[in-house]
Amino acid sequence: MTLSDFRHKLRGEFARRARLTALTLLGAVFITQFVTQCAPGGVSVGNREAAHIQLPFVRVLLSDDAQSVTIGGLHSIAIECVRGDEKFVYYSPRSIHAKFAHSSLSLLNSSGEEIESGLDVITISSRSQRQPLLIDGNSYRGMARLTAGDKAIIITNILNIDKYLMGVVPPEIGPVKLRDVEAIKAQAISARTYTMAHFGQYGGRSYDVTAEVSDQLYRGMRVEKDFISEAVLATAGEVIRYNGNFIKAYYHSTCGGRTDNIENVWPKAPAPYLKGVDCHESCSPSKYYNWQETFTGKQLAKRLSDFETASGEIVTIGRIDSIYIDNSQPASPSKGLRTQKLIFLTDAGRFVYVRDRIRWVVRRSSDKSKILQSAYFTLSAIQQSPRDGVTSVTFSGHGYGHGVGLCQMGALGMARSKTNYTYQDIIKRYYTAVTIDKLY
Ligand SMILES: [Zn+2]
Repeated sequence: MTLSDFRHKLRGEFARRARLTALTLLGAVFITQFVTQCAPGGVSVGNREAAHIQLPFVRVLLSDDAQSVTIGGLHSIAIECVRGDEKFVYYSPRSIHAKFAHSSLSLLNSSGEEIESGLDVITISSRSQRQPLLIDGNSYRGMARLTAGDKAIIITNILNIDKYLMGVVPPEIGPVKLRDVEAIKAQAISARTYTMAHFGQYGGRSYDVTAEVSDQLYRGMRVEKDFISEAVLATAGEVIRYNGNFIKAYYHSTCGGRTDNIENVWPKAPAPYLKGVDCHESCSPSKYYNWQETFTGKQLAKRLSDFETASGEIVTIGRIDSIYIDNSQPASPSKGLRTQKLIFLTDAGRFVYVRDRIRWVVRRSSDKSKILQSAYFTLSAIQQSPRDGVTSVTFSGHGYGHGVGLCQMGALGMARSKTNYTYQDIIKRYYTAVTIDKLY
């Protein structure tokens, strides 16, 4: 199709153009307002004209290093382009390409012919509300917005928060079944709380959250499962708050019996709702409930050398003379106290590692690429000789993950138990003295 064919094809649908532009603009204004107004403790519901747009929205970063992207729909798509003060809309029955060129964006038709260049922003939406967009072959709900970054296209997916959570909960919670529905609801509410607490966290950037573990894993429609989506919708609008503020809804795989206070795990301020609690063996079916890692002295010496060297100073440790735990001065007393200090006396000096950081130093004996399961461990079977120092030591531990907030395996254990625990029971076990509030 030539450029003139493309424009000609567009002209037939020109009548719809003004309406769509108005709607899109309204949406953009609303999203901006929502993001700026959605301070912890309240949600703006918007005006009546905007009510047809499902609320609230979240802007998810899909990529910030793409040089090109292909976007289409199962039916036709609407493409709103912004160049300086100009704004105009195209419709296309086929997919389009966008390319990064000269610090701006170019729009190409499905045959690769350039339609527009020098664009600042391209917003693409499916013309049928129920139809997803295909962004580089993967299905997403909502709209795609492309903006010109410094060196590449910034691709964001803008969509209703609950539709977003349908693509977050499956990868975050792992394999689940219908019987796990109360745990799934608890996870959905934690993830919603996290999202709403982080609106606008990146200041002037064009997204609220990334799609990776630095925020929450998000994989769009390809990971959705009907029963999980239903659990998300069943809790629509519900969030966890303490004293009227969104909590920092930390969660981890397996606590190993007890969770810990946040300040005993990371150098962070205490939070009254992130206290060590008894998991009542709910996570005991986890293969990580109890674990052991046995290291040779040489192996540990190498781990320490590698960690110190990677931290900036070349250190060679040949022999470990002594290894011990010092929990005498925890940041605060706790039921599930993680190791506070792990101390090594070596031929190259004394090395002290604290709290969760320990996991990154010693890693696993069987697999250096993985960090230690948890910092909830004791040392045993230490073998040493006057000549070689420590030759072997066993870490006997519990749990998998940092141990702060909700224990995911514990939540699943509660959901599967005969006690008929609800998602409220699960949330209130792991987050102390919180309220569950419905905001929309
Ligand atoms: Zn647990």
